[in-house]
Amino acid sequence: MTVCKHRENTGKYLMEMRKVCKIYSGGMGFLGRKKNNVVALERVDLAIRPGEIYGLVGQSGSGKTTAGRLMVKLESPSQGAIYLNGEPVNRLRGEKLRRFRSRVQMIFQDPYQSLNPHLSIADTVSEPLTVHGIGTGAQRKKKVLEILEVVGLRPAIEFYHRYPHQLSGGQRQRVAIARAMVLEPEFIVADEPTSMLDATIAIQILQLLRRIREEYQMGFLFITHNLAAANFLCDRIAVIHEGQIVEEGETRQIIDNPQHPYTRKLIEVQPRFSCWQE
Ligand code: ADP
Ligand code: MG
Repeated sequence: MTVCKHRENTGKYLMEMRKVCKIYSGGMGFLGRKKNNVVALERVDLAIRPGEIYGLVGQSGSGKTTAGRLMVKLESPSQGAIYLNGEPVNRLRGEKLRRFRSRVQMIFQDPYQSLNPHLSIADTVSEPLTVHGIGTGAQRKKKVLEILEVVGLRPAIEFYHRYPHQLSGGQRQRVAIARAMVLEPEFIVADEPTSMLDATIAIQILQLLRRIREEYQMGFLFITHNLAAANFLCDRIAVIHEGQIVEEGETRQIIDNPQHPYTRKLIEVQPRFSCWQE
């Protein structure tokens, strides 16, 4: 009988991390001194269900972005395993890796940096279709116009020919969301997608993400330092502190009855906690 190293994997989750560690080696610092290694994630377990919005909540530097980048395979874990629909992603190569890349997407924090200023909105959103060889030119155009409508860039044909510098921050983030959605992935990592936006715009983006989840049944990892935003959007949340998950569960349960002192502290320091509650 073969011994299964990661017995905990059940296959019923969309995205799973099991005992994941990520260590960044320090490299050389000032005057050639060796810098210390950074343990960004320490034995992290996370399991996200199909169609679920799962929040990863913690302060700056706690390891949130690292977790997101590992899930979409922009980086590899130092230890542990990651699964998409029960399949280990660590060793994906060739055609399987290409398929993985079309099934998971990431939306980045800063819509001013994440969009290529030289590409029109049409090219930005259709690029993933082109890269994956999907559809004819006319079909791609139709799909891009459709998806621009979905993310609220209307009339779509007007936005189609514009460039990022002609758009506001909120509109740019809608373009980034359209680009992430155009391949109809199963799973999207949204890394603090509203932290650079004004509160009124931010809430519109959160509402959009909620609507997308309902219509398309995609699973999301929603990364945030803002518990109120997580409360608004997420079915379940995990609280991360210094690379470790300190608490995890149904959102309402954690916010109403936090068990870990760090979670209690996070709730106390939220300045506008009530304004985003439903
Ligand atoms: P968060 O997104 O919660 O702010 P990050 O995942 O970006 O946190 O970072 C977690 C820790 O890992 C931090 O201490 C950060 O400085 C470190 N870190 C992140 N990326 C790198 C990298 N490429 N090289 C070295 N250290 C890194
Ligand atoms: Mg981050």
